[in-house]
Amino acid sequence: GAERTKNVLILMSDTGGGHRASAEAIRDAFRIEFGDEYRVFVKDLFMEHAGWPLNDMERSYKFMVKHVQLWRVAFHGTSPRWVHNVYLAAIASLCAKKVEAGLKKYKPDIIISVHPLMQHIPLWALKWQNLQKKVVFVTVITDLNTCHPTWFHADVNRCYCPSEEVAKRAALENLQPSQTRVFGLPIRPSFCRAVLIKDELRKELEMDPELPAVLLMGGGEGMGPVKKTALALGESLFDKELGKPIGQLVVICGRNKSLSSSLQEAEWKIPVKIMGFVTQMEKYMGACDCIITKAGPGTIAEALIRGLPIILNDFIPGQEVGNVPYVVENGAGVFSKSSKKTAKLVASWFGPESDVLKKMSQNALKLAQPNAVFDIVKDIHELVQQQGPLSQISHCLTSSFSQQM
Ligand code: UDP
Repeated sequence: GAERTKNVLILMSDTGGGHRASAEAIRDAFRIEFGDEYRVFVKDLFMEHAGWPLNDMERSYKFMVKHVQLWRVAFHGTSPRWVHNVYLAAIASLCAKKVEAGLKKYKPDIIISVHPLMQHIPLWALKWQNLQKKVVFVTVITDLNTCHPTWFHADVNRCYCPSEEVAKRAALENLQPSQTRVFGLPIRPSFCRAVLIKDELRKELEMDPELPAVLLMGGGEGMGPVKKTALALGESLFDKELGKPIGQLVVICGRNKSLSSSLQEAEWKIPVKIMGFVTQMEKYMGACDCIITKAGPGTIAEALIRGLPIILNDFIPGQEVGNVPYVVENGAGVFSKSSKKTAKLVASWFGPESDVLKKMSQNALKLAQPNAVFDIVKDIHELVQQQGPLSQISHCLTSSFSQQM
């Protein structure tokens, strides 16, 4: 007979742009692969249902990454297990009830966490509700290499690692090989399934049809030395002798409004497009020939799929450090902190060094894992089948709530 629709709850947080992009990628892949079999909710559960400090996570994260030194302390200071266990226990006792209310509202058969701080508390909540055996809980890690230990929890049904490096860390944190899978970082299906033709994209985006193009960005928040680099490119991509541009520039500022407005005011000798937060990133990447970005895992994985050589110009201490060797050692890009050097490098790629650009583009494509998100949802589907018929979680919750009363 017809199976009932299963509820999937994806726990994310709007810190940066990466967690939301991964969550939406998984939601879209469920829809493409399984249609009505699953109903997917993407929720910032802690934001909606929890008390401070969890509902404040986005603001404190933004504050801390702007004050890099603070973030470094926050990241490493919470790394030893006993520190974060005590910390999380304190938080959990404050807001577990609200997390439970979230579980009750969405009645998930499957919970997918795409956030480093969303393992412990939901798993504790499930345990208290006696739902551990009835709800499939999986973690999808969205850092490529040096990820925070709170990503790993031995009680998950699966831990999806984007790379072998992360899988090794999972093993060190006592996850069994049967719990881990390595498929790659989940990227929105629009990146891998759509047919994108550069000439047509350039027409659609109103770009120069001929000039090579560099895309410059800094994650969802527009972080890193974007402005300095843009201005340096404005110089290096203009051939003074011939009096004409040798390349064009697209800057995506994300949610950084002051960045986009100050770039709008600058004067340019080359064709420049300045964008705020864009929703069709695949089109901008498809229209360009290389990318300059901070070492955000989402942006890196997307650029690899589009075969864009990558210049990494910055990284968030902690979780993004390892993304640099991941790109550089695999020959898909370079690290360059100096805006001037970066601008010269792009000019040489668009001139005498075009072979280097081509080679790096091939290496990028080799590293890309466009099907990761589909492998992940198919594996979750199998996991659910193995688990057998899931009982109605709403009943269990109601009864255990009334027992407590
Ligand atoms: N992004 C987007 N529109 C923008 C800027 C960023 O869709 O205007 C997306 C980008 O494609 C990527 C994510 O936001 O999927 C950024 O994730 P990443 O891990 O690179 O960095 P974060 O912002 O999480 O630090």
